[in-house]
Parts: sequence; structure tokens; C-alpha cells
Amino acid sequence: MNVVHGQVEIKSKRSMEVIDITGMVQSWIVDNNAEDGILTVFSFHTTAGLTINEAESGLMHDIETQLSKIVPPHAGYQHDKVDDNAHSHIMTSLLGPSETVTVRSGRLALGTWQRILFVECDGPRSRRVAVTFVGKTIG
Ligand code: ZN
Repeated sequence: MNVVHGQVEIKSKRSMEVIDITGMVQSWIVDNNAEDGILTVFSFHTTAGLTINEAESGLMHDIETQLSKIVPPHAGYQHDKVDDNAHSHIMTSLLGPSETVTVRSGRLALGTWQRILFVECDGPRSRRVAVTFVGKTIG
């Protein structure tokens, strides 16, 4: 059994943006010869989270707009007194910082419509997501 640590880098372009990072993570698996095991992705940020869902453009837009409705900006938050982004932190806490996916025969074992979605809540920024694989590697 091996443990492989790495990361993928993401550049968001908008303040709220759902970004499909499945291809980047799958490429990381291939580049690191990960074959069978468990993979975690972990956002290093307090204002950007991860979720697994469908990468349909309308749904990605819906996630962005509905999160903003659930946690609207500038609604009297304490944190806005020191850093004007309390809504971004709260949205990120709702999403959570990580996801776990199994890897089978060198492929992410996702359902047909499932994708790993990075959710920027305070962009645009350069972001980092840790990728850790635990399991059998080839070569
Ligand atoms: Zn803040």
C-alpha cells in the first residue's frame, strides 16, 4: 500500500463559481499511477469548498445563485466588521472542505452523473486543493 500526496491548482474567474475539477483529479490519478484505493480531495481555503454533483451548466448556475440566496452578503454579520466576506465563509461551511472517492482500476469510481465540483465563494482567486491517494499504485 502506498500514500501519495499532491495538489491541483485552480484559478477562479468570478466571485461565486462552481468549477468541475474531475478531469484535473483524474489526470492526477494517471500521472501518479494510482490504481486501487481511496482518494480524498481537500480545499485549503475557508471561503471555497467542495461538493459532488452533476456538472450541468444550469445546475452549476443554480448552486451559485441559491447559495447566495441562502446566505446573502452583508446581512449584518459580525465577521464583516473585520473582513467583508462572512457570507463566503458560511457558504463554505455549508459545503464542507473535502470529499472522498474510491479509485478502481485507475479511474475515479463516480456515479454516471457525478462530478467533483470546486465551489468558489469569494473569487476571483488562485486556489489549491490537496489530493491524497491511499492504496495500490502501479509501476
Ligand atoms: Zn473573512
